[in-house]
Amino acid sequence: MTFISPGDMKMQVNKDAEIQTLVGRVVERLRSRGLRRTRALDLLITEMARHSRPMTIAELTESESLQGQCDPATVYRLLMKLEEHGVVRRLGLHGRAVYFILVQPGRHHDYLVCTDCGEIAQIDIECPVRTLEQELQKQSGYHHVYHELEFFGVCPDCHQGAEHEGRAHCC
Ligand SMILES: [Zn+2]
Ligand SMILES: [Zn+2]
Repeated sequence: MTFISPGDMKMQVNKDAEIQTLVGRVVERLRSRGLRRTRALDLLITEMARHSRPMTIAELTESESLQGQCDPATVYRLLMKLEEHGVVRRLGLHGRAVYFILVQPGRHHDYLVCTDCGEIAQIDIECPVRTLEQELQKQSGYHHVYHELEFFGVCPDCHQGAEHEGRAHCC
């Protein structure tokens, strides 16, 4: 049994409210662009808002709320539509390990992608491009300037695996 302190409960309520606000905002934006609101669309957006991290189509299809409601093809089709309308960002390796994340204005992360296994990691170093972004906005007169960064490399696990290959097991 998990004991939930009143503080945790309050945090949960706040989190739920935050998710609902985010989902409401996304749905409103889509509606204003003429996209029809369906139950599948609602479920998908809610699931993505709940996790706020990059997720694969398989992860989304197998999630508790979408399981049995949407097949991978439907999830894919919806994601493509959401990406087209700028509310979803596509990350990772094209064609191999594709991830999707809901775009949240004011909240931004850059990512590191392993070119071997396709694993994706959020970069915890403060974004170095933010100052450039502000400068660019000031100089160009552009509004709502944003950027998306993906760094590519070989993750520690894959690197270690490659090193072990061809070497006799000694330990
Ligand atoms: Zn890897
Ligand atoms: Zn950044």
